[in-house]
Amino acid sequence: MSEVRVRIAPSPSGNLHVGTARTALFNYLFAKKNNGKFVLRIEDTDAERTSQEYIDNIFDSLKALGLNWDEGPDVGGDYGPYTQSERFDIYPKYAQILLEKGFAYECFCTPEELEQEKAQATANKKPYVYTKKCENLTEEEKAKLRAEGRKPAIRFNIAKAQKAFHETSMLTFDDLVKGELHVDTNLLGDFVIMKSNGTPTYNFAVVIDDMLMKISHVIRGEDHISNTFKQILIFEALGAEVPRFGHLGMILAPDRSKLSKRHGATAVSEFVEKGYLTDALINFVALLGWSPSDGEEIKSVDKIAEDFRIGEVSSSNSIFEYDKLNWMNSHYIKMLDMEDLKERLKPYLTKYNLNELTDAEYTRMVEVTREPLTLLSDITDAVPYFFGEDVEIDEKARETLDTEVSQEVLKDFVERAENWEWTEENLHEKLEKFRADYKEKGIKPKVTMWAIRAAVTGRICGADMTAILAIIGKEKSLNRAKKAIKCHA
Ligand code: GLU
Repeated sequence: MSEVRVRIAPSPSGNLHVGTARTALFNYLFAKKNNGKFVLRIEDTDAERTSQEYIDNIFDSLKALGLNWDEGPDVGGDYGPYTQSERFDIYPKYAQILLEKGFAYECFCTPEELEQEKAQATANKKPYVYTKKCENLTEEEKAKLRAEGRKPAIRFNIAKAQKAFHETSMLTFDDLVKGELHVDTNLLGDFVIMKSNGTPTYNFAVVIDDMLMKISHVIRGEDHISNTFKQILIFEALGAEVPRFGHLGMILAPDRSKLSKRHGATAVSEFVEKGYLTDALINFVALLGWSPSDGEEIKSVDKIAEDFRIGEVSSSNSIFEYDKLNWMNSHYIKMLDMEDLKERLKPYLTKYNLNELTDAEYTRMVEVTREPLTLLSDITDAVPYFFGEDVEIDEKARETLDTEVSQEVLKDFVERAENWEWTEENLHEKLEKFRADYKEKGIKPKVTMWAIRAAVTGRICGADMTAILAIIGKEKSLNRAKKAIKCHA
């Protein structure tokens, strides 16, 4: 096979799923590794389930993950168009070739007749395969059915194709991931390639497109294995070169059921909205079936590409561990450059008036609050006390403030702090002394600080207290402390 050409071929019937992102990534890595081309094709033959919004979401999500394509609907290429609905004039020609070669036939069965066949098979406890009722219709019979107003679908003739290219009914191929796979083609049933309305089915359109787009390797989920056998037969019947296939295990939820909304986010855009970094997400997704040779799991896509071998991808299912993704995301947040992080956090701070802080204060706020962030969105609940005049006091802080010690500490704090120079450095020194004085009276330093923290932030834990006081400023800090003193209220 000359040039390596792979593709991701999503159907725009929903936002880009992480499973599709994993398939896209493995194709992308395979192309990179082999100096090949990565093609994006939009499979929108099912007009009812397709929407422009989903197409845009697919483009945006792949781009956000850094999975840029060499050819596709927007960037073009030598084998376009890359959107199936713009290729509808291509498919009938190939269906005609198959009809002429005897590898396909017209089927005039109505949906009702097919339902009846299925019901019959169920009654006989047999798996349903089409009865081939229309395989040998004469021209007269067809003309009569046409005259009745029936429009034929076109079915692929499995047995004819199998017989022409194989000695027995067994069809075998060597999967890049799973090794040798086979099926008894007698079980497949003559499937429709062109519907009676003139549109192609998935299995047909995909073969014609993979053939014309010179796709050399098809890497996709194992849920397509049964389709692959049908597709191989079509390639052969058309005299086309059959690509190599590689099927990836499924991605399951931690409870081993199919990953779905009830487990958490499933679409790439949902993860992004929740505050996951796309670099973390794509790194995590790579580990669903692939493992690094040096055991170092945190890696950029470029580094992964150097190490990636499709033959080493696990053939079994992978578990989508949200906890691991969270850990990875927090790691990636820690690695972000300060200016970058400041920008990325802004969408999660819209409920606050950022203008209350100077850029230096905002920087300091992010410095002292970034450490525990798992998601970018965690920032929203981590920082309310930096904004506004007053602060909401939570239950634990309220209990703390109600103690006699706290009241005493606060009164003293307000009195002494009035004269403090309000820089972080000075506050650090002064608070150290303040705590030491109380320690001498037998009050633990943390108890002293709890009182101040509870009054100023409304919570009993959070970021570095000195930094908080410096950012909030003298007036606001002391006002909050005064308000927490009971006789003041
Ligand atoms: N449109 C198909 C899907 O989204 C593509 C499968 C394939 O890669 O052939 O499942």
